[in-house]
Amino acid sequence: MTAIDEVFAPGGPIEKSLAGFEARPGQLQMAQLIERGFLEGMHTIVEAGTGVGKSLAYLVPALRSGKKIVISTGTIALQEQLYNKDIPLVTRALDIPARVTLLKGRNHYLCKQKLENMRADRLLAPSRTMQQMWEWGARTQTGDRAELPFLPAGDEWEQLDADADDCVGEYCEHFRECFFFKKRDEAKFADIVIVNHALFFLDLAMGGGLLPPYDFVVLDEAHQCERWATAALTATLSRGTIGRMLRKLHRSYTVPGHFDAEFDRGLRGFESALAHVPGDRYPLHANESAWPALETLRDSLYKLENWLYANWHDALKRKPQNDAEAERRRDLAMRAILAHQATIERAQAPSDTAIAWVERADADSSYQLNSAPYDVSEYLRGMLFERTQSVVLTSATIADNRSEDGAFEFLKRSLGITEAQELIAPSPFDYPSQARLYVAPPELNPKTPHFAKLAAPLIEECLDRSRGRAFVLFTSHARLREVYALVRERIAFPVRLQGELPRMHLLEWFRRTPNAVLFATGTFWEGIDVVGEQLSCVIIDRLPFPSPADPLVQARIEALEARGLSGFDHYMIPSAIVRLKQGFGRLVRSKSDRGMVALLDGRAASSRYGSLILRALPPATRITHLDELKEFFNA
Ligand code: SF4
Repeated sequence: MTAIDEVFAPGGPIEKSLAGFEARPGQLQMAQLIERGFLEGMHTIVEAGTGVGKSLAYLVPALRSGKKIVISTGTIALQEQLYNKDIPLVTRALDIPARVTLLKGRNHYLCKQKLENMRADRLLAPSRTMQQMWEWGARTQTGDRAELPFLPAGDEWEQLDADADDCVGEYCEHFRECFFFKKRDEAKFADIVIVNHALFFLDLAMGGGLLPPYDFVVLDEAHQCERWATAALTATLSRGTIGRMLRKLHRSYTVPGHFDAEFDRGLRGFESALAHVPGDRYPLHANESAWPALETLRDSLYKLENWLYANWHDALKRKPQNDAEAERRRDLAMRAILAHQATIERAQAPSDTAIAWVERADADSSYQLNSAPYDVSEYLRGMLFERTQSVVLTSATIADNRSEDGAFEFLKRSLGITEAQELIAPSPFDYPSQARLYVAPPELNPKTPHFAKLAAPLIEECLDRSRGRAFVLFTSHARLREVYALVRERIAFPVRLQGELPRMHLLEWFRRTPNAVLFATGTFWEGIDVVGEQLSCVIIDRLPFPSPADPLVQARIEALEARGLSGFDHYMIPSAIVRLKQGFGRLVRSKSDRGMVALLDGRAASSRYGSLILRALPPATRITHLDELKEFFNA
């Protein structure tokens, strides 16, 4: 076999297959390290910023290994790029045939049985979109809802999706031609299976069964792993989850109507009890009035469980093929009820490693109760890192330190990785000449009440220098609205505020509007790709530390401090670094991109932790006066 450096060398197979390909040292180093990890059974961590070409750097060794590999990513955009563009390119270049499957979670696929039942029960579709879905359902070959020209509303799609709680598997008459099971079978025979982090970590949490067995794993966008692993282990109780459970029961059984009324009363009591404590996220133990409300809900769940045990056969709406099918359906329904009971029990008696907290949704002010482990490291070590020969973790933002020495301490500790080969792949970008970093003077402190007034003229000046073309990013909605109100009428460029349009439309507006300015919060820190001059300035209001009031953050900090480690140094600072690098990463996306980051938090210039954080950022030229931008933007 050709050595891997020849694959990436000038005149090599990648250059022959990819027009405009340029050999990049960082890409080659990354590929070499990953190949060694596959051959020697070691885990590999690589930070590879934009421009390194990280997907080819892991795809080449992956295909050359001849092993079964799962690639998991955080975003659909990256999954589609791998499936439609990068993998076909590498298979062509290396002349290695490979079977590749992009597998999504069950609820992305249409359930033929539900569609058939619904159409049998109703002459007419209840809405225009449902009519469109019925028509699509009759002709689709894949059952993948991504084929629909619109995103269906959650409660409509739920009536048709292939969710596990509604599926009797081999007892279903459509089992052989079921879209989801066909796709899962295809994945069994694939060399490479592409999934998202939600599905990957759910498979781990369930002890397998969703994904076929694999030899190696590549976790791209690995800075999201802790979040997705925690999400997969989070048990939730809310009006939404109870409503879903009842709707599923109603689809299969003739359930007495008094249960709906009883749960509705219980949920109203639960929500009003949770509203007694202010804040969007707080630990459950801070609210004693939640206990009786939870007891009431638990009583209703017991009654429902007892009713189902007594009526699981006679109350079925459709005659089952046999008793086994009826029992499967009962077990599925029972699973949802028991899961809610378990959530209440876990919340009432959290263990040393788990916490229970309350969360209020922004959109409709509804509440949910969550319970989850705050530390997933032991679990991931046992379930993933000790069981898989080689796991590759890569992202543009996973190092919390620019030195090779201990550059990934935060990631390794939070995910439970004890040993791995490590690399920060050198960037092909010339940051000192392509980017400027402005840090506001020390007196500008976002914790002071007059911050917005002092920051507003700086924002205006930055926007004048960059002629708009900017994201102005905030760590809180309140601060966003306060500053926006001060500057909106003084900005001579088209301006939009997050929330004025749906996210995708806002981005579309930003890409096609000359000199646009977008004021936004956290959700715009990540996963946004605006290449070229259109985005030339990113203004960030403050160092993005996680909120210390967040119950998960609190629990993680307390756990570190119980081990004699500083929660600030070992959790807050590295979290802020990763987040700030995401904001920074919006700016320089190609060798010709130029731009500035303005950090309006003067503490970055005056504190010990500020200098640690700045040192971890890409090496843009630091400026202290905005005048210095004149030449930069006119060049
Ligand atoms: S096997 Fe399950 S998901 Fe597939 S069509 Fe039947 S019930 Fe639906």
